[in-house]
Amino acid sequence: MTSAAPRSRVAVLTALRHSGELTQVEIGAATGLTAGTVSTVVSGLIDDRLVRVRDVVRTGRRARAVTLIGPGGPLVGVHCYLDEARVLLDPGDGRAVVEAVEVLPDGHRADVAVDAARSLAAGLLAEQDLDPADVLQVAVGVPAPVEVRTGRVGGAGVRDGWGPVVAQPELFAPAPVVFDNEGNLSALAEARQGAGRGRSTVVQVSISQGVSGGIVHDGELVHGRTGTAGELGHLTIDPLGPVCSCGNRGCLQVYAGSAAVTSLLAASHGPMTLAEVLDRAAQGDPGCRRVLSDVGRHLGTAMASVCTVLDPDVLVVGGALSRAGDLLLDPLREVLAERTAVTSGAVVDVVAGELGASAPAWGALLLARDTALAGMLAG
Ligand SMILES: [Zn+2]
Repeated sequence: MTSAAPRSRVAVLTALRHSGELTQVEIGAATGLTAGTVSTVVSGLIDDRLVRVRDVVRTGRRARAVTLIGPGGPLVGVHCYLDEARVLLDPGDGRAVVEAVEVLPDGHRADVAVDAARSLAAGLLAEQDLDPADVLQVAVGVPAPVEVRTGRVGGAGVRDGWGPVVAQPELFAPAPVVFDNEGNLSALAEARQGAGRGRSTVVQVSISQGVSGGIVHDGELVHGRTGTAGELGHLTIDPLGPVCSCGNRGCLQVYAGSAAVTSLLAASHGPMTLAEVLDRAAQGDPGCRRVLSDVGRHLGTAMASVCTVLDPDVLVVGGALSRAGDLLLDPLREVLAERTAVTSGAVVDVVAGELGASAPAWGALLLARDTALAGMLAG
């Protein structure tokens, strides 16, 4: 491919990065380019094997759908979390993305998660008969805030142990590696190819063992000044509440994480896993339903402020608790209706995430693709 990247080519690739697949007419609408220019750029991208084109029918008319397949080599997306490591491999040659996951012990150290991810990635590469040396880019989502400009872990004390791990650029050598907060990556995936698809401003909050979040505007993550924008788990619900892992008191995470849910039920129901709470709530258990409703209301208290500031198109709720569906989301919607109507006029659309536990790994794969494409375009 040419080393220079004409502006129209970058514009078409950007539209495709955000949407995955668009018709040529949709690319024209998204970029403001003429049909002729779009056609010329797409032909060049086909020659460079960055896109694939197929004939489709849209609103009764024949159209050419353009799918981004580049940058033409294997990409790896990794999610290191508090209870598992998950890896997605895109072979980069038209074969489907493959996935592997390993459950991790409670309270494991950061390097345990990364070692697990490395062996999962090696296993997937071997299974697909790919050489690790050919991997173009690895991206890793970590349960800690990452300063995008410096690549360092921010917010000292939020997650001990992740700083030294993120500081090792040779972690997946010889492939280059980039890191971001896993809540950000989950939001990126839901915004581009999940429940927020086609919407302009997407706020995503994930409730699992921890509470994380991310903000995406027009297909790109909002990182803020240092990279910690969207750390929604540390919004204050009660300044006199229990102390959080970040050192503040009464953060959303203290009231909405899975430990909060199970501990509230310990006296009445005995020890339960989160999955058991969700199952019994679905079967009608009033105590389990009440706890999920309370989480939804706490979430509403925190998200009302976020929605007042950002006025997003959609609020996506992901993570393990999102399986509760409307048992969680209806109380959230009620609080948002009470507290945001004055400022935004209409209550924000609240939906459950579509990508499940794989959302952060899908976001990591998208970040790997973005990074590799940016490297190619920079020549
Ligand atoms: Zn906190």
